[in-house]
Amino acid sequence: MANDLHPTASPDHFWMPFTANRQFKAGPRLLESAEGLYYTASDGRQILDGTAGLWCCNAGHGRREISEAVSRQIAKMDFAPTFQMGHPLPFELAEQLSRITPPGLNRVFFTNSGSESVDTALKVALAYQRAIGQGTRTRLIGRELAYHGVGFGGISVGGMPNNRRAFGALLPGVDHLPHTLDLQRNAFSRGLPQYGVERADELERLVTLHGAENIAAVIVEPMSGSAGVILPPLGYLQRLREITAKHGILLIFDEVITGFGRVGKAFAAERWGVTPDILTCAKGLTNGAVPMGAVCVADHLFEAFMSGPESAIEFFHGYTYSGHPVACAAALATLEIYRNEQLFEKAIALEDYWQDALFSLRSLPNVIDIRTVGLVGGLQFAPHADGVGKRAYEVFRQSFENGLLVRASGDTIALSPALIVDKPQIDAMIARFADAIRTAG
Ligand code: PMP
Repeated sequence: MANDLHPTASPDHFWMPFTANRQFKAGPRLLESAEGLYYTASDGRQILDGTAGLWCCNAGHGRREISEAVSRQIAKMDFAPTFQMGHPLPFELAEQLSRITPPGLNRVFFTNSGSESVDTALKVALAYQRAIGQGTRTRLIGRELAYHGVGFGGISVGGMPNNRRAFGALLPGVDHLPHTLDLQRNAFSRGLPQYGVERADELERLVTLHGAENIAAVIVEPMSGSAGVILPPLGYLQRLREITAKHGILLIFDEVITGFGRVGKAFAAERWGVTPDILTCAKGLTNGAVPMGAVCVADHLFEAFMSGPESAIEFFHGYTYSGHPVACAAALATLEIYRNEQLFEKAIALEDYWQDALFSLRSLPNVIDIRTVGLVGGLQFAPHADGVGKRAYEVFRQSFENGLLVRASGDTIALSPALIVDKPQIDAMIARFADAIRTAG
């Protein structure tokens, strides 16, 4: 049964993001509260959260440690500027974050979202190249099917056509590497797919075409989440690292989804043993409770900014809410939960069980691929005659009817439960999901 909007809530004013507004209003799905692995919908039904919100709430919902830290902080100091001023919390948080980032990425710039983290990272890359006397390096390279948020920088390097097409010319001087999805060779791979490392070599072709001296940075999601859980082929990230290092091109990992245990380590960079020059994150940083993002930058990049006159502002960039005290309080409490409950380790310990559970769906109707790593999974459905995404949307809708929240993206459904999930909850998710797939046909 579809939920109705609350009697006092007018459907006419909220312009919903990434939503078919008119379709939604005809049958709204509303969530009212959340605890652990469950949402409660407005009609009172318990909805098992198969997505950790939007890949954010890695420690589960309703964490008192976070809400208490947030309310204490609002009462103590609700806001403080961080332009030419400071307060202790972002210093403390940056230090704590640098303990779990890959080696050498110890400088942290705070933002309020993944999109802002991406645009900040691109600006750091461009400004760094100038700072070291490589000002001709202005080109940026993204990848097909990538999602890097909705800023103009992010949609320019991003490679999802729907996110770009309504918005004109975007940033000039941007190229895209080929994506790494390969159903012909890699369907139903467990973990990283075997084939496709050579797709990284396209970067060499772009270097030949444009000249390394004109290229500032390459940005990739180590694992594409929003496009439907696309994993890097074995050796692919290493190859990108080798080629970028050889040509003085910076490598940026967008870890907005993969960060904070999703792939079984603090970051995908650690899981797959490749260290970028810049790493973006958000979402799980505060367990989704307060908007916040971060850009973790290699020490040697930071040092290059610090070589000018001491009285000069080194990087003309920042947000009113960079290092917001309430967001910092939420993030500090979140990192403490991750540490105390060893949630990244839990994710890796459950990986095989999770993978087996997802692969049990292999023979259901129209399932043409299953991709999984850590505590994330993507099931891709055969294209429907009525167009891209029709089948996955129907499975999403039916799952919600069955009391399970999943995420539809194109022809793929993504699942990414909170890292506190246990085996019976995984079984319940898979049972509801299987039923939805069968009903949707
Ligand atoms: N980068 C990646 C890899 C993402 O997955 C997302 C959001 N899903 C973003 C950036 C944008 O984050 P936000 O929605 O917080 O701006």
